[in-house]
Amino acid sequence: MSDRGIGGDNGDNSSNGHNSNASVTVIGLGPMGQAMAGAFLDRGHPVTVWNRTPSRADALVARGAGLAGSAEEAVRAAGVVVLSLTDYDAMYAVLGGVDPAVFAGRVLVNLSSDTPERARAGAAWAAERGAGHLTGGVLTPPSGIGSSEATTFYSGPPDVFEAHRPVLEVLTAAEYKGEDPGLAALLYQLNMVMFWTSLTSYWQAVALAGAHGLKAADILPLALDATNLTQFLEFYTPRVDAGDHSGDVDRLAMGLASAEHVLHTMRDAGVDGTLPAAVAEVFRRGVASGHAGDSCSSLVEVLKVPAGSRG
Ligand code: NDP
Repeated sequence: MSDRGIGGDNGDNSSNGHNSNASVTVIGLGPMGQAMAGAFLDRGHPVTVWNRTPSRADALVARGAGLAGSAEEAVRAAGVVVLSLTDYDAMYAVLGGVDPAVFAGRVLVNLSSDTPERARAGAAWAAERGAGHLTGGVLTPPSGIGSSEATTFYSGPPDVFEAHRPVLEVLTAAEYKGEDPGLAALLYQLNMVMFWTSLTSYWQAVALAGAHGLKAADILPLALDATNLTQFLEFYTPRVDAGDHSGDVDRLAMGLASAEHVLHTMRDAGVDGTLPAAVAEVFRRGVASGHAGDSCSSLVEVLKVPAGSRG
């Protein structure tokens, strides 16, 4: 065990993030947790780590991190406990067996992604044990950890955030969004719904291109242009907020015809059409709901209604 890790702050309950040498515990050493523990080590923080699969700690231990023998030992080692787990279920799996008294006065910085509801329940779970809880939504891959150009959204008690801002800023720029513990999780999920759907549309395009003998590199300029939606988002945003879906520049009926052309192009090429079929189905519902002559932005109103409850 490294002398920079466990015991580096005598395992005290200090949660003073202003201390530039504050001890930090990182629980969960997937690609993200490893990058985070590495960033803390780079900045001279004594770091204790714990992971279900201990071998993932090897490189960090070689760099000076302390490897805790149990999750409880890891929590005891620092006032700030960063969680980088797959989801909140993993948090309960890891921390559920820890003596509840150990959490008192510590802060759980939960950078595991999950739903807003589960983030709120996680914050309540921490509060029952006397711990502070900050929900984080990390908007960068592991390569961005340690850079102030990357951002993490936080929500939770403002005083807890401010007290620990210096430690949080070791990871990325830290943007405080509000007190509701679910808020950072919501903003993260808003980011992800656009990210995953856009990226999957790129995989779809590469698959179609490949079926026609084109490589990903052949369509890179086209892909960069097609996925840059800045002009569209800036145009639609004020109109959507004003409830203006007038079909002056685009009409949903045109959108449906186009979405079906995309779907048929996939099918002609023998490429899986699950994603374009889903897109065409959303457009079809919009037209069926009476929006054929409205802008494609009227899909916002259609999507607000749960699919099962339409007349
Ligand atoms: P991984 O899923 O690769 O790693 C998650 C960690 O959770 C591992 O240490 C794993 O342990 C642990 N874990 C999962 N389930 C359990 C369990 N039941 N009990 C104990 N430990 C468990 O995730 P990442 O490192 O990639 O990401 C961590 C979090 O950050 C996720 O919530 C992710 O959504 C979020 N995130 C990730 C980004 C990325 O690009 N990777 C970007 C932005 C956010 P073990 O090693 O033993 O399997």
